[in-house]
Amino acid sequence: MINTLLPTSTAGSLPKPSWLAEPETLWSPWKIQGDALTNAKEDALRITLQEQHRAGIDIVSDGEQTRQHFVTTFIEHLDGVDFEQRETVKIRDRYEASVPTVVGPVSRQKSVFVEDAKFLRSQTDQPIKWALPGAMTMVDTLSDKHYKSREKLAWEFAKILNEEAKELEAVGVDIIQFDEPAFNVFFEEVNEWGIACLERAIEGLKCETAVHICYGYGIKANTDWKKTLGSEWRQYEEIFPKIQQSNIDIVSLECHCSHVPIELIELIRGKKVMVGAIDVANNKIETPEEVAATLREALQYVDADKLYPCTNCGMTPLSREVARGKLHALRAGADIVRGELAAQ
Ligand SMILES: [Zn+2]
Repeated sequence: MINTLLPTSTAGSLPKPSWLAEPETLWSPWKIQGDALTNAKEDALRITLQEQHRAGIDIVSDGEQTRQHFVTTFIEHLDGVDFEQRETVKIRDRYEASVPTVVGPVSRQKSVFVEDAKFLRSQTDQPIKWALPGAMTMVDTLSDKHYKSREKLAWEFAKILNEEAKELEAVGVDIIQFDEPAFNVFFEEVNEWGIACLERAIEGLKCETAVHICYGYGIKANTDWKKTLGSEWRQYEEIFPKIQQSNIDIVSLECHCSHVPIELIELIRGKKVMVGAIDVANNKIETPEEVAATLREALQYVDADKLYPCTNCGMTPLSREVARGKLHALRAGADIVRGELAAQ
């Protein structure tokens, strides 16, 4: 399916046009409503796809133009969650947010993103990746008055995600990615039931599957948290051994400009790795040489045919110009290392 060496992709979101939603803002509400919104989202998707094509990105996505938030938009489509009944909780043990409440059994009456994915499929012949929230991260973004168990609620979400993933696969999605930033925080739970839920979510899928584990968008709550993590970020060390044993195909992680010791990638040897070679918490556009340097380092721990150059996380909070520059840098950096590998 993916024949290019070092196929490039992005972790997820890309900036939205200013006529669709307030730029450089997370959770930004739509500026258009009703049927016009459907058309506007499709137009935004066409634009983001063109930007990815122009930059030479190999595995393309919808840039999350179709959703307001990577977790909430999915949950909004489920039964059992009351969006009127809100509670303030601490998300990822880090920042407080007002979140909806689980008031009954959770279920999915109909597909959430399948029409959007179909549209994306109709617009490109390149491999496409679709992101879904991971079960643990979903649980961590809610107040639960029904199951009263994070594990039980996550398991129910995993079953729902599996239904959605199977429909996405059926309309031609090549890679389904689960976003699990919570995996970097709740290590014990990840090992006890988080990875089991991830495996439940991918059960029976024939397309490729990925898990994205990062240190978050470049927002203040995250950059403040990162300052408390010390000079070496060893979070991956706690969870990688079990992820290595799991049947997920691809692990998407943060590298460039982070304090993650790159040798931790050795712990997932055998997996395909989407190596974050673009910092999303910084407006400075990487040089192709900087990208190449990160990829070369990663090559010590990932076989070349399993290395997928990527961004650290989503780029929705960045300006379109900066995001565009970073996409081009990613591709140019990958080209340098491709040339070196070909010369060997
Ligand atoms: Zn991320």
